[in-house]
Amino acid sequence: MPSMDISPIFDFKLIFQDSQLPLMSKLTCPFPKIHPSQLQRDDAFFMALAYNQAIDAWREDEVPVGAVIEMGGEVIASAHNQVIQSCDATAHAEILAITQASRAIDDWRLVGATLYVSKEPCPMCAGAAMLARITRIVYAFGDPKMGGVGGALDIHRLPDSWHQMETTTGVMEAECRSLVQAFFEMKRELSKAKSQQEDLPHEI
Ligand SMILES: [Zn+2]
Repeated sequence: MPSMDISPIFDFKLIFQDSQLPLMSKLTCPFPKIHPSQLQRDDAFFMALAYNQAIDAWREDEVPVGAVIEMGGEVIASAHNQVIQSCDATAHAEILAITQASRAIDDWRLVGATLYVSKEPCPMCAGAAMLARITRIVYAFGDPKMGGVGGALDIHRLPDSWHQMETTTGVMEAECRSLVQAFFEMKRELSKAKSQQEDLPHEI
């Protein structure tokens, strides 16, 4: 097993005891990147790289979702969510990775490729993966509200769904889920702290 010396449970409330919080403009990611062994290139290895991409997203104040595309044992694309900085609702990690992978192999068909993503792809990304003929999707945890491969809907159940992708879930589930939960929890705490500060009377 690759070494994953991180705690999947992060107590975000600890850092909110700091009275400087209201002065922060954005949230510092408290999760470290992980460094899996290169010797064992299994699902956990590639998901660890997707997880690191998700941390990059957080460091840029984006929702922490990361994706990696593997083909023939090699990473041919890696990307993270960039919706806010790109001002583009389609700039999800998976879409960016699919574009990057197609350029890397000079073929829009990604037959034989596996998409690793730190949460279940939304319907847009699941559709893009299908159109790109991706062979397999591995995602860390399901999304019952917006998941496109079984969470909320299943792209494979479209009447004209001619390409079936193998799906695997649960790889680094706790770590990837904690990352997203902590991000939104911290956003809520930050917003609460800011509004409390605004409610304080101004000094004379
Ligand atoms: Zn998406």
